[in-house]
Amino acid sequence: MAQDLSLLKQALQEAHLPALMVSLVHMTGNADHLTADKTPVYDFFGDSRVGGLSEEKQAEIVAFAEKVITDYMTSGKKTPYQPSPETLRRMMDYVVGAPIPEHYVPFLKEELAFDGDAKLPEWNTPQLKSAAEKLHVIVVGAGMSGLLSGIRLQQAGISFEIIEKNADVGGTWYENTYPGCRVDNPNHMYSFSFEPNHDWPYHYSTQDVLLGYFRRTANKYDLRKHIRFETQVVEARFDEASSQWHVRVKDKNGREETLTGDAVISAVGQLNQPRKPDIKGEGSFKGPTFHSAQWRHDVDLKGKKVLVIGTGASAFQFVPEIAKDVADLTVFQRTPPWLGPTPDYHDKVGEGKKWLLEYIPFYAKWYRFWLFWMLTDGLYDYVKGDPGYNGPPTAVSAANAELREMIVTAIKPQADGAPDLLDKIIPAYPFGGKRSLRDNGTWVEALKRPNVDLITDPIAEINETGVKTKSGKQYDGDVLIYGTGFQASNFLRTYKVVGRNGVELHDRWHGDARAYLGMTVPGFPNFFMIYGPNTNIVVNGSIIFFSECAVRYIVGSLKLLAETGHTTLEPKEEVHDAFNRKVDEANRWMAWGAPQVTSWYKNATGRVSQNWPFPLVDYWKATLKPNPNDFIFGDKRSQKAAA
Ligand code: NAP
Repeated sequence: MAQDLSLLKQALQEAHLPALMVSLVHMTGNADHLTADKTPVYDFFGDSRVGGLSEEKQAEIVAFAEKVITDYMTSGKKTPYQPSPETLRRMMDYVVGAPIPEHYVPFLKEELAFDGDAKLPEWNTPQLKSAAEKLHVIVVGAGMSGLLSGIRLQQAGISFEIIEKNADVGGTWYENTYPGCRVDNPNHMYSFSFEPNHDWPYHYSTQDVLLGYFRRTANKYDLRKHIRFETQVVEARFDEASSQWHVRVKDKNGREETLTGDAVISAVGQLNQPRKPDIKGEGSFKGPTFHSAQWRHDVDLKGKKVLVIGTGASAFQFVPEIAKDVADLTVFQRTPPWLGPTPDYHDKVGEGKKWLLEYIPFYAKWYRFWLFWMLTDGLYDYVKGDPGYNGPPTAVSAANAELREMIVTAIKPQADGAPDLLDKIIPAYPFGGKRSLRDNGTWVEALKRPNVDLITDPIAEINETGVKTKSGKQYDGDVLIYGTGFQASNFLRTYKVVGRNGVELHDRWHGDARAYLGMTVPGFPNFFMIYGPNTNIVVNGSIIFFSECAVRYIVGSLKLLAETGHTTLEPKEEVHDAFNRKVDEANRWMAWGAPQVTSWYKNATGRVSQNWPFPLVDYWKATLKPNPNDFIFGDKRSQKAAA
């Protein structure tokens, strides 16, 4: 794509106008055109691309933008204007259509990253360089977070190796190959902040595209030479004598080896271990049976009678795909998912928009910033409970009830012609109780097909020929597919982690995993988790953002050791406990913590063990830099003895 202007007219028709308007500031050198009459006013279901602006205002913006861009690109002068802090603040408020609270400004400035990669680790002094050279870190998992860890460790000059059970990188994007699998976060946000991709084919790209992105990133940073593929971690054990971790691994031939590292970063994800339903008779079905994350591509579904259990995020994507081919599809729903209106869910990114992303200074950053705000902290207040709210249990606050009504109004027309369906697809629990799914009408359309039945009668048993429900009705099928999710609250279930005094992490947890900031646990020096307890996000932010925060903190912790000369750190028990009390109290008041909500966010004790209950900005702030007062530091035994 040349930087010529032939795509400009098309680009302006595809542009996100508020993001375009602020990008123009970098070309004009002032923000005079961000006038009150052209300030976006978003509503949940309007066309956010035009920011609620009238057609007349849109036309004015397009004409103005065409002139500014043409002049800029033909003038030969190509240094984009860097706005003053006041102007930047005005631009931020403009693009989201409302004043952004002051404490967000530094955070959002970093998100904009005008000066490049704001999270780049800097180990520049001779002391740090020499410390980095002596460190070796073992990373478990080469999915998104493991790759990110490798990149940051490499940039810090720290040696590392990554242990990956699969034959390639990509984690969840490698394993989940079910039909229709795609990301449910806009890709211009669901990507590494330092590795933008202006060429995403879809706003929400498909699994193969995501896998391609992570493969390319691994190649670009030359990470493969650090990865042991098809190798499982069996155990990580802290050796008190050397203050190091011994990590026992097993390759695909069963050969075991013990690796030694100064720190371990566990990047195994929360959604990696498929969960089969705990239903009587599970395992007795005679036909092919498989889980969505272990899709059997060798089982031809064409013309078959297929039974699906589950209507969560995965089934929501594969049901509409397989419905086209199968003879008969019976979907068993225990709880309906919330449908979040997303008209562009399956849309391609236009060539004009790609051109803007590539060539218009800072357009990509402003667009990402807008997505970030609108889809995450901008929604937070709608899913936060109000202790004084005394409405029905279908909501947790007046704002939550209002949002519910708006969404129900948007869903209703989809059930036209199928009145029975409406009652089945409108959840009785509050919006935000579970992650809402991206709805462009495809799901309900599939459920309305003559060959598809949505069964809400609870399942009594699975038997040799199919599924029997509580009312005694038998549904026979040729193939049984589980869309029943993952063993999420069973953190790190695939390997043992033995800390100080021989304590095993799972024994400490007793089925109720907790950590400080989701990353560290008392008694487990230099053991870090990414996407650990209480770091999942529900109002649809990008988990990549969380991983970037976590990795900065982890590499920052290693830097703290290098600066202070200590060998290990672990959080103080009281710091860990106080943090968890705060988290629990906050989760209690979120839609997903409400007692009427059951989900994989709660563990067997009923505690919300998965989710971060605060605005994302709070995680950013908490993970900017480790606070030395939070830790107990350890030194090598030999050093202590010598001292
Ligand atoms: P899920 O959202 O946990 O859905 C599991 C489904 O199975 C739910 O409908 C659940 O019903 C049902 N179920 C579980 N056990 C059952 C039983 N014993 N009897 C009847 N029904 C049962 O799992 P998932 O769809 O695999 O998604 C998990 C998470 O992965 C998502 O929340 C999301 O974070 C992530 N994900 C993301 C994407 C994406 O980005 N595109 C795609 C897929 C998944 P209840 O609701 O009643 O428990």
